Amino acid sequence: MPTATKVNLLNYSQEALKDYFRTVGEKPFRATQVIKWLHQMGVTDVDQMSNLSKDLRAFLQEHTEIRPPEIAMEQQSADGTYKWLLRLDDGNAIETVFIPEDDRGTLCISSQVGCALDCTFCSTARQGFNRNLTVAEIIGQLWIAKRALQRDPKGPRAVTNVVMMGMGEPLLNFEPLVAALALMMDDHAYGLSRRRVTVSTSGVVPALDRLGDVIDVSLAVSLHAPNDALRDQLVPLNRKYPIERLLTECRRFLDKKETQRKHITWEYVMLDKVNDSDEHAQQLATLLRGIPSKINLIPFNPFPDTRYKRSSNNRIHRFRDILVNAGYTVITRKTRGEDIDAACGQLAGKVNDRSRREIHFARIEQRVNNNENKTDPDHRPTSSKRPNAGLRH
Ligand code: SAH
Repeated sequence: MPTATKVNLLNYSQEALKDYFRTVGEKPFRATQVIKWLHQMGVTDVDQMSNLSKDLRAFLQEHTEIRPPEIAMEQQSADGTYKWLLRLDDGNAIETVFIPEDDRGTLCISSQVGCALDCTFCSTARQGFNRNLTVAEIIGQLWIAKRALQRDPKGPRAVTNVVMMGMGEPLLNFEPLVAALALMMDDHAYGLSRRRVTVSTSGVVPALDRLGDVIDVSLAVSLHAPNDALRDQLVPLNRKYPIERLLTECRRFLDKKETQRKHITWEYVMLDKVNDSDEHAQQLATLLRGIPSKINLIPFNPFPDTRYKRSSNNRIHRFRDILVNAGYTVITRKTRGEDIDAACGQLAGKVNDRSRREIHFARIEQRVNNNENKTDPDHRPTSSKRPNAGLRH
């Protein structure tokens, strides 16, 4: 039985586990062995760690535990995409998605319970925010996926890439994020190369600066608009860190000499008649000039009560062509897992909202009902609850 005093071994990067072992008088190299057992072998009991001394195993039995989140539900989409709903100790739940492709398998990992940023086109934002995930809860998603994918009926699948594009803003959960990233790239744990581990951010500028100093990963930035007026509306964080500041920081990030980063991936959600005109594409091409860039166009994934629509395929092609003609590499992201609400921006989990987002929506609803809100440009749809939010089993 877990007890409050036991430490969860999944909360430690290799460095942190070495420190822990030092403080309890154990040899630091034992940490490397334990990390291998935990993450390469996926053991759930320290007694399976056969190359450790009996004494160390007894110590670990007494003082530690191996506790990943619990799988509350596993779903598989018609296109092979997996989605797991993971229950956390405090009753919240998060979602993790695996996207299989011919030549790779990408795991989309959550970093927070809900999200505090309130991007207007994102369903996670509707859930409000509860708390940051621990290292064990972040790396636990990879730990669980790796084990689950070994029993895929069509044969074992591997996680070859990780994207921090699930629920939450990773850079607002900095220390646990970095520890989990270190495990993903640790040869004794998951051994992924820095090119295959991507942090996606809506642009938390000071944290981006710190990230560039401490770890070498690939970076995706959720831009979504080529000017401040529009981005202020779509990504409210832009009011704090406007585009020019964000771009300056991104240039610095690429220039940091201890790293080998080659480009930034810009994410751009395609919203019908909002940010998808020829002029927007031209503005974007001018804005990013001089920055080594890849542009990732994401067809908007709808969710109940959203005011947005997905741009037509023709519009997306035209937008892409303008950028390609301006010399950019552009990828239009394929929508995967839509039938199980696993596509970008559709992740919901079960968030015990502490940001009072639901109350905020309820107030707006009341105002709308009282007929006072007709001209409010910021007005949200009246019913914000996703019918499928929460534990769906
Ligand atoms: N907070 C981080 C990571 C989470 S979202 C970030 O903002 O980058 C991962 C990506 O999905 C982001 O680019 C986000 O803007 C995009 N996204 C959110 N809602 C979406 C939706 N409904 N349709 C398509 N993409 C969406």
